[in-house]
Amino acid sequence: MSKLGNYVLGKWIEGDGMGQELFNAVNGQSIAHASTQGLDFESILQYARKKGNPTLRKMTFQQRGRMLRALAVHLLEHKEKFYAISFQTGATKIDSWIDIEGGIGNLFSNASLRRKLPDEAFCLDGDPINLSKQNTFMGHHILVPKEGVAIHINAYNFPVWGMLEKIAVNLLAGVPAVVKPATVTSYLTEAVVREIIASGILPEGALQLICGSAGNMLDYTTSQDVVTFTGSATTGLLLKSHPAILSESVPFNMEADSLNCIVLGEDVAPGKPEWDIFIKEVKKEIIVKAGQKCTAIRRIFVPENKIEDVWKALIPELEKTVIGNPLNEKVRMGALAGQAQREEVRSQVKRLLTSSEILFGSMDTVSLIDANETEGAFLSPMLLLNKTPFTSDEPHNIEAFGPVSTIMPYKNIDEAIELSKKGKGSLCSSIVTNNESIAKEFVLGAASYHGRILVLNNDCAKESTGHGSPLPLLVHGGPGRAGGGEEMGGLRGIKHYLQRTAIQGSPTMITAISNVYQPNAKGHNNGIHPFKKYFEELIIGDQIVTEKRLITSADIDRFADISGDHFYAHLINTDFNGTMFEEQVAHGYFIMSAAAGLFVDSYDKNPVLLNYGIDELRFTKPVYAGTSIYIRFTCKEKITQELKEVNPDVPMVKGTDIPKGIVKWLVEMFDDTDEIIGIATILTMVQIKNKN
Ligand code: NAP
Repeated sequence: MSKLGNYVLGKWIEGDGMGQELFNAVNGQSIAHASTQGLDFESILQYARKKGNPTLRKMTFQQRGRMLRALAVHLLEHKEKFYAISFQTGATKIDSWIDIEGGIGNLFSNASLRRKLPDEAFCLDGDPINLSKQNTFMGHHILVPKEGVAIHINAYNFPVWGMLEKIAVNLLAGVPAVVKPATVTSYLTEAVVREIIASGILPEGALQLICGSAGNMLDYTTSQDVVTFTGSATTGLLLKSHPAILSESVPFNMEADSLNCIVLGEDVAPGKPEWDIFIKEVKKEIIVKAGQKCTAIRRIFVPENKIEDVWKALIPELEKTVIGNPLNEKVRMGALAGQAQREEVRSQVKRLLTSSEILFGSMDTVSLIDANETEGAFLSPMLLLNKTPFTSDEPHNIEAFGPVSTIMPYKNIDEAIELSKKGKGSLCSSIVTNNESIAKEFVLGAASYHGRILVLNNDCAKESTGHGSPLPLLVHGGPGRAGGGEEMGGLRGIKHYLQRTAIQGSPTMITAISNVYQPNAKGHNNGIHPFKKYFEELIIGDQIVTEKRLITSADIDRFADISGDHFYAHLINTDFNGTMFEEQVAHGYFIMSAAAGLFVDSYDKNPVLLNYGIDELRFTKPVYAGTSIYIRFTCKEKITQELKEVNPDVPMVKGTDIPKGIVKWLVEMFDDTDEIIGIATILTMVQIKNKN
């Protein structure tokens, strides 16, 4: 009998004894045993902190991002192996795609986030804050990787995605992980981790895996660790009230039971495109992954006069669903993860039936192809009807974690909002409507109880990612019953693994610490124009103060003619009574252009390859004809770029393999009273001289 490995302390170790036996969800055959008995959890966490953490935290965001990308590419090359195993969990090809390639997609997305981050092991958060009249004292926020370990305790439904979507984030942040998948499907997670470890892409100690019980691991958590939990509310409550979690103030991110819902807008009727969209979305949510999705639609709210039309349209669709062995290409719905999970769903449905009736499906029989219901964990899709949703608690409180959903009537949008909130907090809800006021009312009325809201209509349905898909760049998590957690969400996600610290000091000191030029810090000028310097020669704070240029009325007229911008404020003959201005004022864009004329080193070919944009631009004071302006131009931030990579954020240049980096420059524009008239951050690409 084979036993799953635990990858801990730098090696694969089998636990003592036989542990828990794991079965193929489709035919009931034994797959392996999983045991963590005898593992030293204290040493495992220490190994992550002492071995994985120091290596990861020293790497820059760019290095970590490239590491994630390499890992994603590697896993994609081996995906067929994972699909073959995934079928044993009861997953169809589509279910497996969501799990496997959806998980790998998270690695790619997080890898791309590096482009929004500096080439440093830490980053700044938000804007600088001036705290003094003389500009000598300021504040900022810095984010540094926590010194602990991310402990991920996952649910059984997405053994690959569940791991990858989480480790992508902690690894980008610079923190190692210990992953504990739910035991029942851990054989698939184990296969993926074997491939990750064999690739050698992650530094040692960055990832450990335990297949089986978490034992006393949480006893050893410390304040620098982060625990994430996905599973039942009961287990979640138990774990988050663990004495070590409480006494060490360990951040605990929980995703638990969620009674997600969908609302059919009152404007939608049979024959409208949104009607079909609604029916299709509900059916999909019931059968995909056999309903074992944290985001699956459990509650369907329908205007009371359309409730019969809805179930009459839905039932034939559910009847068409081919259920059985996922290896058969005709099959659209596979098995639940195991017999115990099926029993759990049945017992929850029994509780739901105290106030609901079955419109479609059965707890006891299901017709299958290439499988039988005694050996496999199959269950029929079930559509329930509850006619009294305001007086019945069950449909809003009981989550049957399978292909089960309940239709309920509502009278008006206020009722739909109220009913959606009776779930006491969910991961996501959807509304299908083509009416903008209904959509707005629902979103604003319901948002405080839902982590994500999808508004579906015919305009977006075809390209929509659907009700059930959490996306790496959007926040996933929900208030209340859904656990009160939040994860993913692009850069928001990595902040869970970074310590945010307010730092205060002089602008020059904060510049030195952060390697980002802060307004009013001392600049330096060695007599060489910064545009003459290669990327590696530039120093943050390299600065020039330009000559002055007189802005004349003729200049303003000419700029109006060239640009075609004849806004009244720029015309000399305007009657300025009742306007914001005293007389003809220069175009802000003219001032910016004139600034470029002052700070650009115009005469020689130089290492600046191109100017590709402006991050921020503000005009803070009107500039009238007769004013002389000058510019303080400072090297603010440098971001190295990878060679031979098509970066969608920047334009292609001839010969894309020119080694180069991005340089951000602070452009401060002044008038002849030394008052600031405008500020901008411009972006250039600067050549790297030394290719190594
Ligand atoms: P679960 O029994 O709560 O288990 C979740 C995870 O916690 C598993 O890895 C489990 O490991 C682990 N665990 C259980 N007891 C533990 C303990 N004392 N110490 C440390 N870890 C412990 O949930 P499940 O069976 O996987 O899923 C069932 C329920 O989870 C569903 O009914 C659904 O409500 C909910 N769920 C929610 C979401 C969501 O995102 N909201 C997603 C999936 C599932 P073992 O497998 O080894 O027991």
